[in-house]
Amino acid sequence: MKRVAVIGGGFGGLSAAGELARQGHHVTLFEGADTLGGKAQAVTHDGVVLDTGPTLLTMPDVVAEQFTRLGAVDLLPRFHRLELQSRYVWDDGPAFDCWEALERAQASADGLAPGEGAALGRFTKDAEQIWRAAGEPYLEAPYEGVASFMARVLKRGLATVATGLKLATLDELGRRHFRTPQLQQFVGRFATYAGASPYDASAAFAMIAHLERAFGVHHVEGGMGALVRGLAAAVQRLGVDVRLSQRAKWVQRGSELLVTTAGGDERFDAVVVNQDPLAERKSAEPLAMSGFVFHVDVQRRLDWPHHTILFGRDYRREFDQLFGGQVPDEPTIYVNHPAASDATMAPAGRSGLFVMVNAPAFDVSAPPERVEALWRDSAARLEAHCLKRLAAWDPAFARATKTVFARRTPVDLAARGAPGGSIYGFLPHGKFGAFRRPRMRSATPGVFYAGGGTYPGGGVFMVMLSGRFASGLVQRHLEARA
Ligand SMILES: Cc1cc2nc3c(=O)[nH]c(=O)nc-3n(C[C@H](O)[C@H](O)[C@H](O)COP(=O)(O)OP(=O)(O)OC[C@H]3O[C@@H](n4cnc5c(N)ncnc54)[C@H](O)[C@@H]3O)c2cc1C
Repeated sequence: MKRVAVIGGGFGGLSAAGELARQGHHVTLFEGADTLGGKAQAVTHDGVVLDTGPTLLTMPDVVAEQFTRLGAVDLLPRFHRLELQSRYVWDDGPAFDCWEALERAQASADGLAPGEGAALGRFTKDAEQIWRAAGEPYLEAPYEGVASFMARVLKRGLATVATGLKLATLDELGRRHFRTPQLQQFVGRFATYAGASPYDASAAFAMIAHLERAFGVHHVEGGMGALVRGLAAAVQRLGVDVRLSQRAKWVQRGSELLVTTAGGDERFDAVVVNQDPLAERKSAEPLAMSGFVFHVDVQRRLDWPHHTILFGRDYRREFDQLFGGQVPDEPTIYVNHPAASDATMAPAGRSGLFVMVNAPAFDVSAPPERVEALWRDSAARLEAHCLKRLAAWDPAFARATKTVFARRTPVDLAARGAPGGSIYGFLPHGKFGAFRRPRMRSATPGVFYAGGGTYPGGGVFMVMLSGRFASGLVQRHLEARA
């Protein structure tokens, strides 16, 4: 039995800890905060339950498989598959309802301009090809260099390689398929799933559109908080020693790996770090976007879908501002309304809303007082802007009694270890951006990374895969040392 430390209890750290315990190791998980889940936290207000981080689940089979691998199917919450995946809204003109059923989504696209439905069909096929060419091989195994990745691509045929190589930016792909700026924006938004700009991120991000259509957009019953509780219970049942409120740091001393906390040093045979690897780097790296979120308790049940996106008027300007370090003046607004499909999320006759806008990550070398002051002002301004826009969109919301009861700024994300408050850490801009992520294997033997800042990237199912991959790398390392 070897001793393995996991530093950080986000979905990636929890998955790695569970896998390692299942392999028979003695695992200690150090979490700096007083709760597990990392970015996936929940808030409640008088019976209204809302997430503060992830809200939308894709690739539910990966999550279900994680629970199966940990012998914890009994702890897996129910998933609700959404027929209407998201409603996309603009200030003027009709909305676009993205149904899982392609024909229904195409009919809605035709409502924006005749022919856009057929274009959506062609885009959907392209997105599937991109997934086969780039996505499947990328998620099959930990990325350990171009050679092994290309071997996995080539297994799928030369046509796949050609598809991968001709990819432009996501914005270019959107413009190639659609003539309405609305549907171009719809395509571009998939870059934000990695905290990136559609004008600089690879068209490969279109694969997310395929994942959503082919595997569904899901809601976890009870919210992501329920998924955290299930995974945490699974990990503890496997015997992982979970230590909350213990900030930890690994150090190599001679041939030994030590984990240092306020309580002292402990020796381990291997360490999995769930903290963003960029947080340990001395040099400033360009960072993926952050976000500002606030939560509203509405004293009436709104007739809103589960996910709504109200686009800003000038998408290019919004991203220029975001990556120029400015808080956008007319941001795109994402609204999560979980009571639309899960009665456990709000009492009858009420609605809870999670409202989010993209925000710039801040310069990690900026004085903390300056960043805090910026976010005190910006939070108030963004909140007022969003509430005004939502009221203009739906008079029922304008009339309803409502309470804003929680807020999360980039400063709060940074307090949980996210460099500059960045949600995804590494910024995957450029054609081969995704391949330049910090590696899972550190330069120190026995130390590995897991989570959104490393491979394969951020998002709930991806970080669970990351935890699984990291545990495989640890196992191989320990076997080689035995
Ligand atoms: C607002 C928001 C919306 C999102 N929306 C979605 C969505 O809809 N769908 C989706 O799939 N994903 C979404 N995400 C992304 C998703 O939440 C993350 O990619 C994922 O949860 C990150 O998991 P992780 O394993 O990287 O760990 P993290 O969640 O980053 O957790 C890391 C943990 O490590 C701890 N830690 C850090 N340093 C130390 C240390 N030195 N010692 C001890 N502990 C330490 C931290 O306290 C934290 O608990 C969203 C995120 C945010 C913030």
